[in-house]
Amino acid sequence: MSKELVTNAPKQSSYDVVIVGGAMYGSSVAWFLTNNPDFTGSVLVVERDLMYTACSTVHTNSCMRQQFSREINVRVSQFAADYVKNFRSYLGDDPRVPDLAFQSYGYMYLADNEDFANILRECHAVQVACGAGTKIMTPAEIKKAYPFYNLEDIVAGSHNLIDEGYFDGGTLFDWWKRSAREQGAEYVGNEVVSMQKNAAGSKVESVTLKSGEVISCGTVINASGPRAILTCRMAGIELPVEPRKRYTYIFDAEQRLDRDLPLTIDPTGVHMRSEGQYYLAGCPPDDDPAVDYDDYEQDHSIWQEKVWPVLANRVPQFEAIKLMNSWAGHYAFNTFDQNAILGPHNEVENFIFLNGFSGHGLQQSPAMGRGISELVIYGEYRELDLSPFGYSRIVSNEPYEEKAVI
Ligand SMILES: Cc1cc2nc3c(=O)[nH]c(=O)nc-3n(C[C@H](O)[C@H](O)[C@H](O)COP(=O)(O)OP(=O)(O)OC[C@H]3O[C@@H](n4cnc5c(N)ncnc54)[C@H](O)[C@@H]3O)c2cc1C
Repeated sequence: MSKELVTNAPKQSSYDVVIVGGAMYGSSVAWFLTNNPDFTGSVLVVERDLMYTACSTVHTNSCMRQQFSREINVRVSQFAADYVKNFRSYLGDDPRVPDLAFQSYGYMYLADNEDFANILRECHAVQVACGAGTKIMTPAEIKKAYPFYNLEDIVAGSHNLIDEGYFDGGTLFDWWKRSAREQGAEYVGNEVVSMQKNAAGSKVESVTLKSGEVISCGTVINASGPRAILTCRMAGIELPVEPRKRYTYIFDAEQRLDRDLPLTIDPTGVHMRSEGQYYLAGCPPDDDPAVDYDDYEQDHSIWQEKVWPVLANRVPQFEAIKLMNSWAGHYAFNTFDQNAILGPHNEVENFIFLNGFSGHGLQQSPAMGRGISELVIYGEYRELDLSPFGYSRIVSNEPYEEKAVI
């Protein structure tokens, strides 16, 4: 992966907003900024790899759920569902914009003990209060709806068929990039390598690019995914976000299931779901350290020793399956409380975080990108108050935990 990347220089020496990273989050905020008539500034998106070979966005599983433990995360995903379902309308009824695929087969959390079942019930109450369609199911109810599961050890499940499942995040990403450019955002293939602050240390005045240019900025936005901490350190800031490896496997089954397989979260931590005519499975490694930024090596023993046995146990028809494809990707994992970290730094006031999305960042990108654009334009969140995700909770050591992290 460590090949020399092409660099090109920005057209100007100064921008109102410089975004570090041009994948899902950089493009989301670039699109929301330039789409807002109240924003009249200039936007530079600096992306170190315009081929996007090694970012989280290209390794994603692209699913969306309402099943979170925090109300705010449910609301964030509800906006995602609305945005995806009305994508063309959000993009100004542009006839070139396609409908985005959305397969609402739901997530199915399976509990094999009463403690976890109670957590599902607590989360269910939060979700239902927000209007989500989550249902707590008995094993008998699950078996009736999905006869292919082995539920011997299961005491309850939590399932929601409304606005939950796969969505075409890749096309959403492509259109944000294209449309943000058409609306005036400038993308350059380059790397931010350092930042210069004012004498008081309260503001990033400029960023230096790998090709040598020094670019003045009004605001700098950290959208650099698993590399977020490297970007922070350029401004003398620490952040509890690190790259954690996650494995994805695509497989075919000799006897396909007679209906969609919901995104099933097995009590072992392995998840599985339908993927077109195939199936997708994924999991964290048992030992889950921070990894090197360029380490995308696959570990085939995980498939053989961990994933396949779990699949075959939970869905006996998956005893006879064939691995078709696999990859390893990186979560930008927030070790502090597994929730997003969003908004300005408490001291370096024009340094804005858009970081730490773990495995639910794709679906959060519409609401978070919109929120950060509001913060830049109006100095406040307007549509949805995203302040619980602020950096101040890290300074005051008050975790804002999200329990439902896959
Ligand atoms: C295996 C896997 C499965 C997932 N499944 C889901 C899912 O089902 N649902 C869901 O909602 N989310 C999912 N996610 C999470 C989601 O994909 C991510 O949260 C999201 O893509 C993060 O986007 P990002 O723009 O923050 O980061 P990235 O996509 O990593 O982009 C960061 C960009 O910043 C660039 N960059 C970094 N440093 C610099 C610099 N100094 N200068 C210039 N450019 C820089 C990088 O080149 C990169 O392109 C999954 C993630 C993985 C890995």
